[in-house]
Amino acid sequence: MGELGKENIPTDFIREIINEDLANGKHQTIITRFPPEPNGYLHIGHAKSICLNFGIAQELKRVGARCNLRFDDTNPSKEEVEYVESIMEDVQWLGFSWDELHFASDYFAFYYECAVDLICKGLAYVDEQTLEEMRTARGNVTTAGTPSPWRGRPAEESLALFERMKAGEFADGRMVLRAKIDMASPNMNLRDPVIYRIMRAHHHNTGDAWCIYPMYDYAHPLEDALEGITHSLCTLEFENHRPLYDWVINNCHVPAKPRQIEFARLNLTYTVMSKRKLLQLVRDGHVNGWDDPRLPTVSGIRRRGYPSAAIRNFCAHIGITKFNGMTRVELLEYEVRDFLNREAGRRMAVMTPLKVILENVHDDEVLTCELQEHPEFTDRGMRMVEHGNSLWIEKDDFMVDPPKKYFRLGPGKCVRLRGGNIMKYLSHEVDQQTGEVTLVKCELLKGTAGMPTPEGIVCKAAIHWVDGKRGKDAEFRLYDRLFTVEEPDAVEEGFVSVLNPESLHVIHGKIEPALSDAKPEEFYQFERIGYFVADRKDHTDRKPVFNRTVGLKESSSKASI
Ligand code: ATP
Ligand code: MG
Repeated sequence: MGELGKENIPTDFIREIINEDLANGKHQTIITRFPPEPNGYLHIGHAKSICLNFGIAQELKRVGARCNLRFDDTNPSKEEVEYVESIMEDVQWLGFSWDELHFASDYFAFYYECAVDLICKGLAYVDEQTLEEMRTARGNVTTAGTPSPWRGRPAEESLALFERMKAGEFADGRMVLRAKIDMASPNMNLRDPVIYRIMRAHHHNTGDAWCIYPMYDYAHPLEDALEGITHSLCTLEFENHRPLYDWVINNCHVPAKPRQIEFARLNLTYTVMSKRKLLQLVRDGHVNGWDDPRLPTVSGIRRRGYPSAAIRNFCAHIGITKFNGMTRVELLEYEVRDFLNREAGRRMAVMTPLKVILENVHDDEVLTCELQEHPEFTDRGMRMVEHGNSLWIEKDDFMVDPPKKYFRLGPGKCVRLRGGNIMKYLSHEVDQQTGEVTLVKCELLKGTAGMPTPEGIVCKAAIHWVDGKRGKDAEFRLYDRLFTVEEPDAVEEGFVSVLNPESLHVIHGKIEPALSDAKPEEFYQFERIGYFVADRKDHTDRKPVFNRTVGLKESSSKASI
C-alpha cells in the first residue's frame, strides 16, 4: 500500500452517487462542506469526514468542485474561539484548504425569516406546553403522539408570539416554535419537532443580539442550501433525521436542494472519540492538554509524530461504508510505520546509556563511520558520524551472563558498531551496591569497518551507539496506548477506570550530535528502536525532546524500554 497516486483514487458508494449526478447532468459541479461544531478539538474521526469532503472536491477539480469549512455554531452555550482556531489549523495540517469559510451563526437572520415564512404557511406554530408536557404528548414508537392544544392556533397569533420571543419578552423555555408535520409519524423526528427555543446565552459571534436559537435539524439543511451544497455528507446517526432535513428543504424558500447522504463513523480500538469524553480527559488532567500525544485528537497525533500523509492514507484505506464497526488501531499504526519507513532518515540514539571505553583508542583519536541516510534510497546519501575512545550503548546490548543465542556484547564476545569497526570485550565494572554494570572496556578492531568479519572472530550483530564526548543529552517520551482495553466506551465502570497507568514513560538518554539540530516536528528512525519526532512544543537544541511515534514492528509498539 503506497501513497495515493492518481491511479488509485478511492471509490465508494458516495463517490458513485456523485459521479452519476455529474454524468446525468443533475449537477454541473459538486459542493461539499465540513461542518464541525466548535466545541472541542478535532479527532481522527473528523479526519475521516475531512478526507471525504475535501477529498471529493480535490478529485473533481475538473468540474470546479469545492468544499467549504463551516463552523456549526448555532448552539451558543458551548462554543469557544480557541476551538475555531485549532480546527482551522488542523484542517490545513491535514493537507486541505477550504474554498469558503462560513459560520452558521452568520445566517441567523435567514433562519428567522424562513421560520416566519413557515408560520405564515401554517407549517409552524408557537407551543406553550412545558417541556415535560411535550415529551409525554410525543408518544412513542408504538403510540401516536397527541397534538398540542396550541397546534391549531391561528398563524397571526404564532407570528406575534414568535416576534415577542425574539424581542426577549419571555423567559427561557417558556415557549418554543415547532414545525407542524405529523404527530402520528412512525419517525419520531417528524412529530412536530422543535425548531426554535428561547435561550439567553452569549454567542461568540453575535454576542447578545439573539435570545432565540434554531435547532440543529432545522438550521443545518438551511445552511447547506444557502451555500449551494450539492451533497451533505454526515454520519449514520442522522439517517432518521433525513426526512426532516428534506422537509425543511422542501418547505422553505431556499436557493438549492442539497441531498443528505450518511456514512459510518470511524471508531478505533483502544481509544474514545467523542469530544465530550476527550474534554473530560483534558479537564480532569488525565492527559496534558488537547494535543497530548496519547489522544486521538488531530493535534495530539500530530504531536505524536503521525504524518498527515499517513492519516490520509489510513482514511483512504478504511474507505466509506454504511456499516458501523470498530477499526483496529493497528491499522492506523501500520500506515504511520509504512510512511515513516519510506521517508524517515536513520539516526542513532541510546535510550538507556551504558558507558564503553575503547582501551586502544587515544584520547585525541577520531574514527569516522559512514552510515546510510536511508537503507533503500541510496540517492539520499551517506552521513559521517565520528567517535573517540568512549561510547554509549544500550544497557541491554551488554550481558554479563548471556544466554546461548545472544550475539551482542558480553564477556568473550565481539560486536560491530553500526557503520564502524568491530569491538571486542576486555572487562567490565559493577556497582557494588546495586550490582549494575557501570562500565565496559573493549578493544576496537581497527580496519574492520565495512569489511567482512576477520577469520577467527565471531561477530554476528551490529549495535547502535552514540559517541561519549560528542553525544548530547536528550529526553525521550515513550507513549503507549491510553487505555488498557479495546473498547473503553463499553466498560461498565466508565472509560476512566481503564486508563493505562503506563501510557507515558519519560526517560533520559543520548543522541548523536546531529540530532540536536533537528527542527521541531522533524521525524527520524532511531536505528533498532523506533520512529521518533522532535517535539513540536518542547524540543530545543539545548534541551532536545523526542516523542516515540511508533515502534519498528507491531509487537514492539508497547513501552518496553
Ligand atoms: P463528537 O461526537 O465527537 O462530538 P460530532 O459529530 O458531534 O462529534 P461535529 O463537530 O458535529 O462532531 O462533527 C463534524 C463532522 O464530523 C460531522 O459531519 C460529523 O458527522 C463528522 N464526524 C464526527 N465524528 C466522526 C467520526 N467518528 N467518524 C466520521 N465522521 C465523524
Ligand atoms: Mg456534535
